[in-house]
Amino acid sequence: MGIVNGRRGSDERQEVLFATGGGAEGAFAGVVFNRPIDQVLTYRIPEHLRALVRPGQRLTVPLGKSNSPTIGYCVEVDDSGILQIDPRRIKDVVGIVDDPPLIDDAMLGLTRWIADYYLCSWGQVLDAVVPAGVKNASGTRVWTCLVVPEEVRGKIHDLPLSTKQLRVLEVLLRSEEALTTADVCRRAECAAGTIAGLRRKGLIRAIRRRIATPGDPEDSSGSISESDGAPPAELTAEQTEALRVLEPALAGKTGYGTILLHGVTGSGKTEVYLSAIEQVTARGLEAIVLVPEISLTPQTIRRFRRRFERVAVLHSHLTDAERHRHWREIADGGAQVVVGARSAIFAPTRRLGLIVIDEEHESSFKQDVTPRYHARDVAVVRASRAGIPLILGSATPSLESWRNSEIGKYRRITLANRVGGRGLPEVGLIDLSTEKLPKGCLGLSLTLQEAMREALDADGQVILLLNRRGYHTFALCSNPECRQVLHCESCDVAMTWHRERARLICHLCGAERSKPPACPACRSSKLIYGGIGTERLERETREMFGDRVIRRMDSDTMRGHGSHERVLAEFRAGKVDILLGTQMIAKGLDFPNVTLVGVVNADTSLHIPDFRAAERTFQLVAQVAGRTGRGDRPGRVLVQTFSPQVAAIDCARRHDYLGFVASELPEREMFGVPPFGRVVRLVARGEAADEVRRYLEELAEALRLREDPRVRLLGPAAAPVEKIQDHYRFHLQLRSAAAKPMQELLRAVVPEYPPPSGVDLAIDVDPVSTL
Ligand code: ADP
Ligand code: ZN
Ligand code: ZN
Repeated sequence: MGIVNGRRGSDERQEVLFATGGGAEGAFAGVVFNRPIDQVLTYRIPEHLRALVRPGQRLTVPLGKSNSPTIGYCVEVDDSGILQIDPRRIKDVVGIVDDPPLIDDAMLGLTRWIADYYLCSWGQVLDAVVPAGVKNASGTRVWTCLVVPEEVRGKIHDLPLSTKQLRVLEVLLRSEEALTTADVCRRAECAAGTIAGLRRKGLIRAIRRRIATPGDPEDSSGSISESDGAPPAELTAEQTEALRVLEPALAGKTGYGTILLHGVTGSGKTEVYLSAIEQVTARGLEAIVLVPEISLTPQTIRRFRRRFERVAVLHSHLTDAERHRHWREIADGGAQVVVGARSAIFAPTRRLGLIVIDEEHESSFKQDVTPRYHARDVAVVRASRAGIPLILGSATPSLESWRNSEIGKYRRITLANRVGGRGLPEVGLIDLSTEKLPKGCLGLSLTLQEAMREALDADGQVILLLNRRGYHTFALCSNPECRQVLHCESCDVAMTWHRERARLICHLCGAERSKPPACPACRSSKLIYGGIGTERLERETREMFGDRVIRRMDSDTMRGHGSHERVLAEFRAGKVDILLGTQMIAKGLDFPNVTLVGVVNADTSLHIPDFRAAERTFQLVAQVAGRTGRGDRPGRVLVQTFSPQVAAIDCARRHDYLGFVASELPEREMFGVPPFGRVVRLVARGEAADEVRRYLEELAEALRLREDPRVRLLGPAAAPVEKIQDHYRFHLQLRSAAAKPMQELLRAVVPEYPPPSGVDLAIDVDPVSTL
């Protein structure tokens, strides 16, 4: 019995098979479905499909009372002959969807583990692992192709054939690819009549084959510039040492092992990955490299393409057909290196020798819909099952990985210095509680403005980071009796004023409205607009630096395909003086001429109600600080904050990862949260707040009744964001020293308490967000 993530479908119960006396005979297939119920249903394989059905294929089978044909995933085949199953209740497999199988045994095992660990169904995981483009065979078409039957081959020269006919048969026998009638006519320079004649004689047979339609040529990733990715003349001493430590693992001598590569920004981690991968591909094995989606830039891709001949890149704006083609290529062993975001951890490599995760601390490696897996943790399991090394790299490792390296679960390698003896940039704090912003200014303090001027005058470039979109971040009623903030009607958040579009927009649900003439709550007073987003920051910057080229990069300006890359290319080429934007600009960039980075407001992530708020703030500031001083000129970072004394900001200022860890770990330990304990979060949502709360209370009560001393329950309570898109949200947290007791408890209880209709339950094991 599995966990129900949504409502229990009653008709599936019909399918439960009972062991009875007689048993059914034949061959059987275990099939799972993309539904919340974690159950393997057994079907009989009819005689004519017997040799063809294999685990890892999709099958069409009848499901439910109505026996509607449904696609499921075959996870096992039993042809031992007899199954302890009531023969009257067993249904037959209708057909095979894919041949050959989409999923190999290793991936079946891995997906089963994911379903168990993340408390969802095997079918849901399998469905998420296979890209949509593969499932619907995008970019392919079924063609009628011609083949020469087995019994005719080898004796065509003994047959009484015309020259034309002989030529047709030779063309067919010589071709390595399937040919249509039109292809053959062209190559053999004959008419369709010749082929029809041969078919009548039985010398040619027509078959139906799925063939790729001619697609676009390989997506280009821009021109290759000289410096990108070319191997350095010499590795640094630290890189050499890192590779020496990795050597036995890369040579396949030590089996599974996870290595945390803790290297400051600019210490040359990527070069270590590249060299490590070279050793693995030299042995004919493949490597998977995961990077955060926003780091999947042409620049990153080029570094891999320069060093390896066959690199498959799986990014989110591939078309279904492209994704399908890459997937097949990988499955056929055609890629040495697979580079991609989160889901590339499921790449169907056949001879995997190494997994690398860059920026392993990034929360985007966790998927926030079912299956809610964390690619880093899946990677650990995939690597250990495959008996291969896994390298996790970061300048600011997650506290989970850090602790694993402390207790010996992971091995740790440190790159403490930047390449080429460059220093880490000097980071200055601007305390906004003492230095007031100039009048009419919401973003740039005088100190920051001066520093910008200095940097620009010396021909340096400037990056300004502000992690909020829009112009004003809130609208507040001016009536002192009212003081209401204008909220989205469907969500529990303030609306953001977007000046360019002249709309108030909800960043959670996208709802828009025009500026109300008066406060909608008291209907009398005017609204005051406040807070600063990137749009306003751009305007202030233009007012002060009008003679400079300024570009803004956020999801409002970067809508068009490739616009992101275009701006980065301009910036890199020195055609832009000031680049400002959201965290889009904070990561993965490597610009030698940036001499000043300004963090406009370091506090945006500090006060969110999440136990990782401090860690996120530290990472953001530390990562941004790493964007500067990469070239020959020293760089400088200025951070504006109201809380200069908090550890997250003070330690980031001093590039003191260990200091931050030392201040943060005791707090985590005190509250029993990661890395010292595990958390599972249950979020129920629905349109009727009472119902949602009542359901979660009932569930909590049932969980408490089990009195498992190892598991602590917190809540239920309203979630920090109480309403999204007219759905009220309540949450419940389970905490325990290990994940297992919580998984066992939930697996036992949740199926007994399925949410009522209209309420939806999400179970999030190891959540990265608690909003
Ligand atoms: P990280 O990933 O740790 O931030 P990178 O791998 O991006 O660092 O390296 C930073 C810069 O140093 C890159 O421009 C890279 O090409 C360069 N680099 C890396 N290793 C060496 C080396 N051994 N010699 C010279 N330059 C190097
Ligand atoms: Zn909304
Ligand atoms: Zn009001």
